[in-house]
This record gives sequence, C-alpha cells and structure tokens, in this order.
Amino acid sequence: MSTNLDIQARKTDAIARGVGMMTQVYADRAENSEIWDVEGNRYIDFAAGIAVVNTGHRHPKVIEAVKAQLDKFTHTCHQVVPYENYVALAERLNKLVPGNFAKKTVFVTTGAEAIENSIKIARAATKRAAVIAFSGGFHGRTFMGMSLTGKVFPYKAGFGAMPGDVYHVPFPIDLHGVTVEDSLNALTTLFKADVDPQRVAAIIVEPVQGEGGFYQVPTAFFKTLREICDKHGILLIADEVQTGFARTGKILAMEHHGVAADLTTMAKGLAGGFPLAAVTGRADIMDAANPGGLGGTYGGSPIGIAAAHAVLDVIDEEQLCERAVSLGNRLKQRLQSLRDDVPEIADIRGPGFMNAIEFNDAISGKPSPEFTNALRAKAQEKGLLLLSCGIHANVIRFLAPITIQDGIFQEALDILEASIREVRSEVGSKS
Ligand code: PMP
Repeated sequence: MSTNLDIQARKTDAIARGVGMMTQVYADRAENSEIWDVEGNRYIDFAAGIAVVNTGHRHPKVIEAVKAQLDKFTHTCHQVVPYENYVALAERLNKLVPGNFAKKTVFVTTGAEAIENSIKIARAATKRAAVIAFSGGFHGRTFMGMSLTGKVFPYKAGFGAMPGDVYHVPFPIDLHGVTVEDSLNALTTLFKADVDPQRVAAIIVEPVQGEGGFYQVPTAFFKTLREICDKHGILLIADEVQTGFARTGKILAMEHHGVAADLTTMAKGLAGGFPLAAVTGRADIMDAANPGGLGGTYGGSPIGIAAAHAVLDVIDEEQLCERAVSLGNRLKQRLQSLRDDVPEIADIRGPGFMNAIEFNDAISGKPSPEFTNALRAKAQEKGLLLLSCGIHANVIRFLAPITIQDGIFQEALDILEASIREVRSEVGSKS
C-alpha cells in the first residue's frame, strides 16, 4: 500500500511545483461529504473540490446519469456530430439564469474558459475592447483570466505581460474600510483618468468574491453597476463560477440582488464533479461571435452534460437552496457562539452555505494568516478538511456539500469548534 508520504515524495519529483496543494492526503475514495485517503484515514470534506460537488461526491443520480451516457457514447464533439442533451441543457440554463429576455448558451470545459469566452463575446457584441474587473477578484489562470484577476501573487507573478485594456477598481468591503461610495468614486475616476466609458466592453464581477475572501457584493453597488452599464452601453458579466448552483441559497447568487447580468459564467457546481462550464446571456449578444468563433473539442462533453442535468434535478428534488440556507445558519450560529472566547474572530459572513470566518491578530488587529493556517492544520489532524482564501490569506471558507448528512455536519461543527478553541489557547499562551 502506498502511504501519503511515499506519494508526496514521488509528486515532488514528478509534478511541476506551480501546481499548489492545500493538503498532502491522497484521495482513495469519496462518498457524499466524506473522503478516505490511501491510508484509510477518513475526512469530512468542507472543500467540495472548491465548490464543485455541491450535490456531494458521487451523488447516486449523477452517477446513474453518467453511467447511462457512458453506455451510449462518450465523445463525438458537439461541433461535429451534435447531441440533443446539449441543446436541452442550454434550454434549462436559459430559463434558470435571471433576466426577462431571450437567452442563448455556449458550453465549454472550465471556469477560466467560460471567462475567456464571455470576454470574446462581449468584445464581439460591443465592438469595444476595454474590460473592468475588481481588486481581489479571481477569474482563472488563462491569460485573460489572469489579467482580470485582482491578485498578483501567486496568480500573475512571473507570467509576463498580461492582456491589455483591463482595469481594476476596488471592491466595496466595509470591513476593510472600502465603502460602496469609495468604489463608485474609483470607477468615476477611472472613466475620467484612464478609459473612456464608450470604449468599455464589459464590467465583470463576482456576486460573492470567492478566492478573494467571500465578500458579498452590496446590493446597492450591484444595482448601480447595472445602471452605469446601461448608461454607457457596457455589458455586465456576472462570474458565478464559484457562487452558482444552490451554494448561496439560490441557483445563482445574483438572484439575491434582483440584478440580471447580460452574460453569466458558470462552471464548478454545474456538473457535480464532471468538467463542464457555460456562458449564458442575452440572445443577440451571444450571437455576435461568428460561427466557429466559439467552442472547443471537449466543450459540452456529453458526460458533463448528462451530469449537469442530474445535478439540476437533484437541486430541485432535494430542495438544496433551502437546505443551503439552513446549514449556513447553523454554521454561522456555532461560529458566533465562539466570538466572546476567540478575540481573533474579525468577521463571520456569507449567504446560504457560502460562509467564511476571518481572523485578525487579537493585539495588532492585522490579518492573521498564522491563526488561519494553524486552524486549517488542526482541523485536518482531527479529520476535517478546510480551505483558506482572501488576499491576506486570513479567511477560512466553508464549502461543504449541501447534501451533507445531519450527523456528519454536527460532527464537523464539533471538530471545528474544538480546533478553533485549541488554536486560540496555543496562540494565547504565546502572547
Ligand atoms: N471564476 C471564479 C469566480 C472562480 O472561483 C474560478 C475558480 N476558482 C474560476 C473563475 C476559474 O475556474 P477554473 O478553475 O475551472 O478554470
């Protein structure tokens, strides 16, 4: 039997070090909210493959749909020999994505690819080039994705010139002293100092910044962005790659704000663990690209499409939007109950089951990646997998499958509380 350490040593020799890893436990099998490693250790999964298996690992309905597809065909390339399932999933997304207008969809394979295509489509439709994104935002590791991403290290550092005509504006985060007004003023200044709004093709925004630290866009800001876009003929792109598919208690997070984007990017939770991504948007805008200008060999793989149909059925049948809200409330309540004893807790937040806790040093009030990392390590020792995020790496984000069983969720909350208390007492005894 290989041990985690053996494989880790081989990994160091065989895999490029640019592929960062959050744990050194190698997966053997997984079921709903649990993962077992190659040594037989069991973990409760509060990462869900970074917000992918919202419907749990190997949901029986998803597996059944994929198996049925495997028995029919696995790849024809939709651009060569198309299949009905692709069309049917587009019809479903066209209905699900907010906006009282005709919509069309294109399928690709990864979140970054959805972002690339949304910008291609926006530029083709507007015949403009500039794009505005937000500091702290994350939009993928391809070149345009990197350029749009508002964090230099590790995403852009060392990778040379970024595609141009991309501008960043501060994202409004009250907790960090950036108000909605500050962000809007920055946008006004940008339009005066750097780029004519008539040259701007799109503004791209995550309704909840994911990698950036789980900060939800304020409704007033989102609505004002919509107005600014309408005023200047700019397209609004909602990047729902991490926020989508019941995670925030809605199918898509922009539903919390009553705002409809012109283009929406989706991936991750869409296909419950199979690679599939989509761009859905206003039909006339989506049709701006020439035939052959969009797509890709694997775009809309029949396996991913079959899985996505099952995921949408499961979200509906198991009422996962409602369940996300109730699980998130239980998690946030438990974390709130620790506030008096743990002065490092700076904030507890997040819609539905897209929750986060932010840690600052109890004395200096500065971000504490140390507390955050110690907590991640401690929880992992006790069998709970946690992810961190945030531009200061001082946020733990919680992304458990929304299908997590009640008993296992309770167990995870107990581990989480014990881990936070232990890290506090270790940090406290040092200070
Ligand atoms: N946009 C957002 C908001 C994301 O969270 C991510 C992935 N973390 C991406 C784009 C890129 O997706 P992928 O890793 O599938 O390319």
